[in-house]
Amino acid sequence: MPTPPKLTPEQRKAALAKSTSARQTRAATKARVKSGELTLSAIFELATVDEAIAKMRVVELLESFAGVGKVRAIATLDRLSISQTRRVQGLGNAQRAKLMREFPDRVPAIHRGKLIVLSGPGGVGKSTVAKALRQTQSFWVSVSATTRIARHNEVDGVDYFFYSDEEFDNAVKSALFLEWADFAGSRYGTPRKPVEDALRDGKNVLLEIEIAGARQVKDRAPEAVLVFLQPPSWEELVSRLEGRGTDSQERRAARLALAQDELAQSSFFDINVINERVEEVVDRLIGLTTHQ
Ligand code: 5GP
Repeated sequence: MPTPPKLTPEQRKAALAKSTSARQTRAATKARVKSGELTLSAIFELATVDEAIAKMRVVELLESFAGVGKVRAIATLDRLSISQTRRVQGLGNAQRAKLMREFPDRVPAIHRGKLIVLSGPGGVGKSTVAKALRQTQSFWVSVSATTRIARHNEVDGVDYFFYSDEEFDNAVKSALFLEWADFAGSRYGTPRKPVEDALRDGKNVLLEIEIAGARQVKDRAPEAVLVFLQPPSWEELVSRLEGRGTDSQERRAARLALAQDELAQSSFFDINVINERVEEVVDRLIGLTTHQ
């Protein structure tokens, strides 16, 4: 048998520190699973950025769900034909899907609120619609985090949570976002927990976000209804974008090119709604919470 390479005292110290930190991460993750704060899909996402979680044994993870002991964890893996020695990083997509069906959110679907995602090209009027919906009390409207600078009339915690780059990085690393995306040189993300809590409490949730983020939501929460807000016409969109102030010729051209790109993605969405009148869009969105 080959003899393992001899470690220097520094290497031994570093290895020890790494395994202690991995042990602490695993214990903290299990505690968050037990309290219901982390769902399986959040753990799978965390595993992409955290080696300690990627290397956790699946059986250990399942055992930490409230009310699931070792016996049930092993029996479940057996029934799903997943090896008891499998680690999170070794799970295939089909196995992940099976596990997520086995350990869904514990609230029956019928009592959960609807998740509606309002997206569309820049300048189409999404934020006006979201503001109007906030007044109706039919929706809980998510407040996003962003790294962009607050505009003069915006309030931290009401319009956005204004994050530094470092705060945003940390939130991404801790899988605190349901989705996030780069847009116009800043980052924007939807805090996951408030959305999950509101849905669990039976509230309808509205996310007003750009298109790349909307696509991520569909991947992570397939039950979400994706609404694409269309301008009444291309000319109308151009005039709304131009009404936005003192852009240089170059910036203006970039905005229009981006809008064209965004409009081309409308077919990915479940529903297209034309923004002729804000009240009509509001009624349509409220209708989605009862008729779907
Ligand atoms: P603004 O900086 O003008 O407030 O927003 C710029 C764009 O970012 C808008 O299209 C808005 O819908 C989008 N946005 C706002 N919050 C989020 C978010 O949490 N995630 C994503 N992906 N886009 C967002």
